[in-house]
Amino acid sequence: MGNNCKICNDEFGNIEDFHKHLKTHKVTQKKYYLKHYPKKDPFDGKDIEYRNAIQYLETEYNSLSNLISHLKSVSKKEGQKICEKIISQRAAKKGLKFSPSQVESKSLNMPPVSFLIDYLDDYTKTFDKHNLETRYSYVDSYIGFNNTKEKILIDTREQTPILFENSKVQKLNYGDYTLERDTSLVIERKSLNDFIGTLSKGYDRFVREIQGGIVNQCYFIVLVEAPISTALNFHKMRQFNRFCKSSGGFIFHKLRSITEEYRNVQFMFVNDRKESKDYIEKLLGFGRELVSRMDLQYNYDKNII
Ligand SMILES: [Zn+2]
Repeated sequence: MGNNCKICNDEFGNIEDFHKHLKTHKVTQKKYYLKHYPKKDPFDGKDIEYRNAIQYLETEYNSLSNLISHLKSVSKKEGQKICEKIISQRAAKKGLKFSPSQVESKSLNMPPVSFLIDYLDDYTKTFDKHNLETRYSYVDSYIGFNNTKEKILIDTREQTPILFENSKVQKLNYGDYTLERDTSLVIERKSLNDFIGTLSKGYDRFVREIQGGIVNQCYFIVLVEAPISTALNFHKMRQFNRFCKSSGGFIFHKLRSITEEYRNVQFMFVNDRKESKDYIEKLLGFGRELVSRMDLQYNYDKNII
């Protein structure tokens, strides 16, 4: 949509200027958009809920379950068309290069990758058609990989280190955990608190670290010790909403910016610290080359790894 005012027909270069202009008409953004861009959820015909202008313009369904129910109520061919439309519209609007990862798709009101893999006839071909590269392989099998027993290095700055049978604390250039044999795959372990901090006030520093990693051919796994559903809704939790201004929506917007921009980083959410210990050993054991082909959250959610 252009930024031309439906009230006086003036044109604006960007949405911020347009929103300032709206004040001269003494109309709120909400009233303006609801009146001039009425939108209905195709599943139940109810009005799309308005939280802010960008969210409203980008939302086609009020919930993921409405979208999935809608897909189930139409023929598969028609449903596949709906999926493709959602994918291609988002790609065009954001100028995306890659098909979404499981984490990205779960943070948006779009069908998760784990759903699309089964639902679309050919996942990779569908994205190819819209000039979106599929970064990960969804056909590899990882049978035969056991948790590594190699020596794991733990960074001296890691506050509450997880110790392994065979591990050593020393200063690392990148990440919190890596293998002594190959330091090009690193894991950054994060509590939910650390994760929120990294993607809000620590964002610029984190991006610089990822950029530095490119030069040194370093691949980052950000391993978060909380389920993704909790991370998406952290602002509703008591211990956060008192002092934290950001919301899950904002944090995951940042996460998607990084994921879409850099090939050498992936986020993965596990249940808790106990699980993160298992996955540190497992992921390091896979090695850099294999990990960079895996959609880690997809494989975790589907109990493949
Ligand atoms: Zn106007």
